[in-house]
Amino acid sequence: MTEARILPISPTITTPAIQYKVSMPHPESHLFEVSLSVRLEQITSSLLQTSKKLDLKMPVWTPGSYLIREYAKHLQDFCAYSENERPLPWQKLGKNHWQIETLGVSEVIVQYRIFANELTVRTNHLDSTHGYFNGAALFFYIPECDKNPIRIKVISPKSDWQVSTSLPKIPDTENTFDAEDFDTLVDSPFEIGSHQLYPFEVEGKKHQLAIWGKGNAEPEKLIPDIQKIIEVEAELFGGLPYEEYLFLLHISGKGFGGLEHKFSCTLNYPRFGFRNKEKADRFMQLVAHEFFHLWNVKRIRPKALEVFDYEQENYTSSLWFSEGTTSYYDLLIPLKAGIYDVKTFLKGLGKEITLLLTTIGRKVQPVSESSWDAWIKLYRRDANSNNCQISYYLKGAMISLLLDLLIREKYQNQRSLDDVMRQMWDEFGKSEIGFTPEQLKSVIEEVAELDLGEFFESYIHGVDELPFDEYLRPFGLRLKKEDNEWPDLGMNVVSENSKEIIKFVQHQGAAQLAGLDAGDELLAIDGFRVNADKLSDRLKDYQVGDVLEVTVFHQDELITHQVTLAHSSPSRYQVVPVKNPTAKQQENFAGWLGSSLEYIL
Ligand SMILES: [Zn+2]
Repeated sequence: MTEARILPISPTITTPAIQYKVSMPHPESHLFEVSLSVRLEQITSSLLQTSKKLDLKMPVWTPGSYLIREYAKHLQDFCAYSENERPLPWQKLGKNHWQIETLGVSEVIVQYRIFANELTVRTNHLDSTHGYFNGAALFFYIPECDKNPIRIKVISPKSDWQVSTSLPKIPDTENTFDAEDFDTLVDSPFEIGSHQLYPFEVEGKKHQLAIWGKGNAEPEKLIPDIQKIIEVEAELFGGLPYEEYLFLLHISGKGFGGLEHKFSCTLNYPRFGFRNKEKADRFMQLVAHEFFHLWNVKRIRPKALEVFDYEQENYTSSLWFSEGTTSYYDLLIPLKAGIYDVKTFLKGLGKEITLLLTTIGRKVQPVSESSWDAWIKLYRRDANSNNCQISYYLKGAMISLLLDLLIREKYQNQRSLDDVMRQMWDEFGKSEIGFTPEQLKSVIEEVAELDLGEFFESYIHGVDELPFDEYLRPFGLRLKKEDNEWPDLGMNVVSENSKEIIKFVQHQGAAQLAGLDAGDELLAIDGFRVNADKLSDRLKDYQVGDVLEVTVFHQDELITHQVTLAHSSPSRYQVVPVKNPTAKQQENFAGWLGSSLEYIL
C-alpha cells in the first residue's frame, strides 16, 4: 500500500544489490519500461563468479494460476550495459533465459519493455487510465540469487497517479518499495493510477480497498460486508497473520476472477455486478475465496508449492483441498457472516451439485488427477473437456462438504472441517512447511478419528459417485431431482457472430451417435431455423424415441443428420428438507448452518 507497512530503515542498511525501476511514459502504448541494475560485487553466486556471466530468467507462470503463460513472450527491446554505459554482449539461451557477459564490470544495467494489454488478475495491463502488474510477468530473477532483497522504484507518468502495493514503502522516498526476496516481489502486485483508496480496520489491523474502473460498486456498502468476511475467517483461523492487507479491485466491462497473495489479493469483477443481489452475493463469495487463500494455499501449501519453481510446472494432487476446500468455504463464509441466508446457501449448493452431476467427465477423471493435470487440462479446455474432466474447484468443494458433514455428524457439530483447517494451519501454515497428500489425509483422519482410506480411494483417487443423500440426511436434508420437460440432444450450442455453433457433444449422446460434431454450425431442426436460445423450447415439442432432422454445416458442407432422442435432458438438483425431520436432524442442521430447519420448510 502506498503509505503502508513502512519498515524502520537504518541508514547503515545497504541498498539492495538488485534494483528495478518501472516507468510508463506512454501508457497508451501498453509498454512498461523496466530497468534492472545489479551490483555484481554485492551478490554471491558461484555461477556468476566462475562464468563471469549474469543469467536472467523470467518466470513462465505465476503462483495461484496453474498454467504455463510464457510471460517472456511480451518482452522486447532488451539491452545490457555497464555503469559507464558500455554495451555488454548478451545472448538468449532459452525462451525465458538471457545471459550477459559481465566483462569485469561492477554493475550491470538491463533495460527492456513489456507489452501489457491483458486485463486479468494474473497478467499485466497498462493503458491511459492505469497500470497493473504482477511480478512474475514483469521481472527477471537471477538463479541462485532469488533470496536477495530487491528494491523497486515506480515512476508514475501523471502527477495524480498513486501507487498501491502490499510491499513496504521506503520512508521519505517517492514510490520506492522493498521486497525481501523474489517470491515476495512476485506475491505483491502493483496498481498505479488514479484509483480510489478506502481504508478500514478489522481487529486493529489496517486494510485498504483500492478500486480501479467505473461501475455501480458502492464502497460504503461493500466495506461492511468485507469486514464481516474478514472477521469470520479470522475467528476460524484464530487471528489475522499480517499487519496490513490490500484488496485491489478492478471493475471492467468483462472478466471475472481473483488471485490470492499473502498480503493482498486482486479481484476482477463486472462493472455493473454490485447492485443485483445475486451478483453482489457472488462478489462477496469471490472476496471470501481469495481472502481464505491467505491461509489455505499461500501459507498452508502443498509440498510441491513449498518452493516455487518459476521455470516449469509444479505438480500437486492436492488442489482439490487448496482450491476445492476454499470454494466450499466461499459458499459457507458469507452465510456465517450474515451476508445471505440459509436459503441462498442451499440454492448455491444445489447449483454446484447440479453442475457436478451433469458433467460426465466426473466418471472419467479422479479429482486428484484433475489437480495434477491442471497445467494441461483445467485451463486449456476444449470440445472434449466435459466428457473427460472434472474441475478440482467443483468436486473439491463437494468432497469438502461431505468431509464437513461426516465430522460434524460424528461429533454433533463439536468438531468440523474448521478443525481440519486449524490443524493444517498449526502444523504447516504457521511455519510454511509444505504438506504431502499423505499428511493432509492424516490430519483429516486425526480430526475425524476415522480411517478414511476407502473415502479417499473412492472419491478423491477414484470416480465413485458422491453419496450426497447419505451425508445430508443426518442434517435433515436430501437431494431433490427435477427432470427437465424436454428430451436431450446431448450437445451444447452457443450463438457466436450470428451463427449457432455446437460447442460440446456429449460422449455417446444422441447428437454424437447421429454424427454431429463440436464446431458444426447448427442451421435447422426439422427444416426450420433454430438458435441457441430457443433450442430447449423447440425440443419440448418432441419426446424420447422421436427422430428429428438436424441440419448443420460441417466444415462448410451442408449435412442433415437423423437424430434419435434417447434420454430426457439432464436434471436439476436442489437441496431440500426431508419430510418430518427428527429432533436430532434439526439439531444437526442448526449446529451446521446456524439456522432453524423450519426456516426452509
Ligand atoms: Zn482459488
